[in-house]
Amino acid sequence: MKSSADIFREIADIKDRMTLMEVCGTHTMSIAKFGIKSLLPSNINIISGPGCPVCVTSSGDIFKAIQLAKKDDVIVATFGDMLRVPCNGDSLINYKNVKTIYNPMDSIKLAKDNPEKEVVLIGIGFETTAPIIASVIISADKDNIGNFTVLPMNKVVPPAVELIIGNKNNKIDGFILPGHVAAITGKKYFDFISEKGGRGVISGFDPVGISSSIYELVLMIKNKKSAIVNNYGCVVSDEGNVLAKQIMKDVFSVSDAEWRGLGVIKKSGLEISEKYSKFDAVKKFGIKNVKVSESSGCICGQILMGNKLPVDCSNYATKCTPSNPIGPCMVSSEGTCAAYYKYFRD
Ligand code: SF4
Repeated sequence: MKSSADIFREIADIKDRMTLMEVCGTHTMSIAKFGIKSLLPSNINIISGPGCPVCVTSSGDIFKAIQLAKKDDVIVATFGDMLRVPCNGDSLINYKNVKTIYNPMDSIKLAKDNPEKEVVLIGIGFETTAPIIASVIISADKDNIGNFTVLPMNKVVPPAVELIIGNKNNKIDGFILPGHVAAITGKKYFDFISEKGGRGVISGFDPVGISSSIYELVLMIKNKKSAIVNNYGCVVSDEGNVLAKQIMKDVFSVSDAEWRGLGVIKKSGLEISEKYSKFDAVKKFGIKNVKVSESSGCICGQILMGNKLPVDCSNYATKCTPSNPIGPCMVSSEGTCAAYYKYFRD
């Protein structure tokens, strides 16, 4: 097996110009943390994509969660990353009946412990998290819990990647694909990229795994080869986790969804299926879609498309910092602006 040093020596000999995109927020942080960008020659550019779940959640969806948090008889259960996302000068952290959870199953306990309240779990994340949210809903159904619902905001990756493939402003030569998503969905899920003439490598998250994925990708680009390579074979199979996929299919229906800065993307969201509709907070509380503008000067949407970098934002590291975030890309532990702020400032 090649060492990282060998890999980067070989990559340095490749002179073609190329742009790679890491689709996943966990890769964004790992690439920044391990200094991988700085080891690449200047002809190889790596940019971040729309893979941070908090960052891609639209202001309209955050607004819905805040409206629920304002109700006296509601407890909103959420991952901590969502608390400080700004929305119209407000955020979830301002409400005492918002509870941080580490495991979505804890929201069931909250509902059991607070029978006089309605507990609403914010369902956020991609294919990695969706089966967990689905299994929480199945548990609530089995336990016949009547004071529990989910505000569905889960999304699926392929439609956003397709949008990026079609982006005329920024040609991506190859994708570093999320290993944890592929662990659920299987490798074949990403074959649409090579069928469109593109290429990608499914990658793990440690420095050697990411480095070797970059190497595989760079070789494919150099040799003009279109394929999806599974470089995380210890976890990812061709078909993925059949049980997790079945649970997702049972509990969710595919729907159109609004992504921050990317607009409404067809068939990119997961709404709660008719079978489990009693656990749908949208239906229970009659929540309507509202248009909410993004924070002033925030270019998160452009960053998520790969069109801009955090340093292109006039607020970056001045008005917008981790302690005073203006947009979600600075709030989230997987956000590109947060990664730049933590690892790339002089
Ligand atoms: S630096 Fe702040 S304001 Fe600018 S794009 Fe990032 S999150 Fe938005």
